[in-house]
Amino acid sequence: MHVSEFQQLIDTIYGAKDRERGTATTFMWLAEEVGELSRALRRQSREELEGEFADVFAWLSTLASIHGVDLEAVAAAKYGNGCPRCSATPCSCAEPKPSHTVAHGA
Ligand SMILES: [Mg+2]
Ligand SMILES: [Zn+2]
Repeated sequence: MHVSEFQQLIDTIYGAKDRERGTATTFMWLAEEVGELSRALRRQSREELEGEFADVFAWLSTLASIHGVDLEAVAAAKYGNGCPRCSATPCSCAEPKPSHTVAHGA
């Protein structure tokens, strides 16, 4: 399954509910799932971890759909040719922490 197919699937399953719920509340759900992912990482439970990665991806996908963003397209456009800052793969930016922040659009 491609990312775009997953995004479409999630939109078909939850799109109407999520649009009605709106951006702010949907974003809070995403944040909550990120918290659950954090807890799963601390607990080191493989089953829990896999489920939470799926949840975060699903909520990120629905939020993108609400805003008309094609996740597969924008990810490929930004990262498809390597690090957006230095254009290298792997990244060869001098300072890992600040460049990482810049690379992820902060
Ligand atoms: Mg969860
Ligand atoms: Zn770089």
